[in-house]
Amino acid sequence: MSLPAELLAEIERAFPADFLSVEPADLAAYGRDWTRIHPPAPGAIAFPRTTDEVSRLLALCARHRAPVVPSGGRTGLAAGAVAARGELVLSMGRMRRMDPVDEDGLTVRVQAGAVTEAVHHHVRPLGLSWPVDFASKGSSQVGGNIATNAGGVRVIRYGLTRQWVLGLEVVLASGAVLELNGALEKNNTGFDLRQLFIGSEGTLGVITEATLKLARLPTRTDVFLFAVPDLAGVLRLFRAARRGPFALAAFELFTDRCLARVQRHRSLRNPLGTPATHYVLVEAEAGEPDALEAWVASLLEEGLATDGTLAQSAAQAAELWALREGISESLTATGFPHKNDIALPVAGLEAFCGELEAEFGREYPGWEICLFGHIGDGNLHVNVMKPDDLTIEAFKDRTAAADRHLFALVRRHRGSISAEHGIGLLKKPYLAYSRAPEELTLLRAIKQTLDPLGILNPGKILD
Ligand SMILES: Cc1cc2nc3c(=O)[nH]c(=O)nc-3n(C[C@H](O)[C@H](O)[C@H](O)COP(=O)(O)OP(=O)(O)OC[C@H]3O[C@@H](n4cnc5c(N)ncnc54)[C@H](O)[C@@H]3O)c2cc1C
Repeated sequence: MSLPAELLAEIERAFPADFLSVEPADLAAYGRDWTRIHPPAPGAIAFPRTTDEVSRLLALCARHRAPVVPSGGRTGLAAGAVAARGELVLSMGRMRRMDPVDEDGLTVRVQAGAVTEAVHHHVRPLGLSWPVDFASKGSSQVGGNIATNAGGVRVIRYGLTRQWVLGLEVVLASGAVLELNGALEKNNTGFDLRQLFIGSEGTLGVITEATLKLARLPTRTDVFLFAVPDLAGVLRLFRAARRGPFALAAFELFTDRCLARVQRHRSLRNPLGTPATHYVLVEAEAGEPDALEAWVASLLEEGLATDGTLAQSAAQAAELWALREGISESLTATGFPHKNDIALPVAGLEAFCGELEAEFGREYPGWEICLFGHIGDGNLHVNVMKPDDLTIEAFKDRTAAADRHLFALVRRHRGSISAEHGIGLLKKPYLAYSRAPEELTLLRAIKQTLDPLGILNPGKILD
């Protein structure tokens, strides 16, 4: 498939000279996301600066029935921003304006291309945060975060991106511009259309601006790392953390295999002297130092942790976080991982994990499984590393077959096959494990209503 030459000529006439690129380096870079599985092959890349440009571009594309892939920081892990079939990539990279913070309403309006971490830096001097936070924040964009309803490391305390978006400006496939909810906290005037676009992965509209809700930065945070003997022990520790003398801001698990890969890739040191198979990073807000110390002593006394350390400075806290946040990148840098991102009801984690271990023992005897995740909110990242003696093709066949067993197990335990990364191209074949046929019919009807020509991110989430 290639873009009509007439469309490209019209774009060149109607927009600034630097608006469109067909440079091979741009096509290669903007045609793929972090998954790097599908060879990139977009037809061209457009770089709008304003909502009006996005609107006029989509109206033109609709007239030519040209497929468009909305593109943010391309850190997605579901191949949602991949353009592998001659599509026009609509990059939001130049739309990065951030307005002054409204300190009474605790909101800030930004263009969708604003980088997540840039928003953090913009609001921090006022003692505020936009609590959407994860390892890719230095590249991911607000529009991508909203389009994937991203989760991250503090969901247990602050919830998903959805909770932190007040208003959206969205351009539909026709070019029509919708302003949804503005900066209103309260607005009960029928269906909340804003929520429809949050998590829609660029298939229903292009998010061009957002009014973000802000939180006060916590006055005090403490970061601990614990060594734990096994997965059941991790869940016991979680129960103790839920009842701890603080507000639980993060409860992150990783195994010794993940740690070994991070240490190899980033040359980081393990601050704990006692080796263990499982590690847990806990971030606590607003805990009194004496109460925290007593809590840690009780964990060690009761054998809930075999070792532990409390960061004594912001730099040490960052070092502990680096062990956890470096995992995703390190797995890719040191091997070829097959990734799954599943969610279970927290109460069902223990039973699920028991069956998962047995299932994976059968499916992948002797293989390296790297397990980590935001386990406090029921989210597990289950990564299988390709053995050196297997070709990539054979590995993919094997993992595709095993995924069906995994997802059947997830369904039996009333979980989700995609906790936070989305569906994109990667998980599309498995969507029916998590959504009922009646729901799928409804999703298709919504897509048909908003994008009757099927030009927005075609083939993503649904066929
Ligand atoms: C190291 C690493 C760690 C990560 N950790 C987490 C984590 O803890 N939690 C988590 O949830 N995710 C995580 N991710 C995944 C990813 O960073 C998030 O999904 C992020 O929100 C994607 O943002 P992006 O701007 O890079 O989007 P992209 O990858 O560019 O796009 C993602 C999807 O959104 C669509 N899209 C992008 N911008 C727009 C727009 N303006 N309008 C409409 N549609 C749009 C795209 O078409 C695509 O379908 C991680 C990724 C990496 C590489």
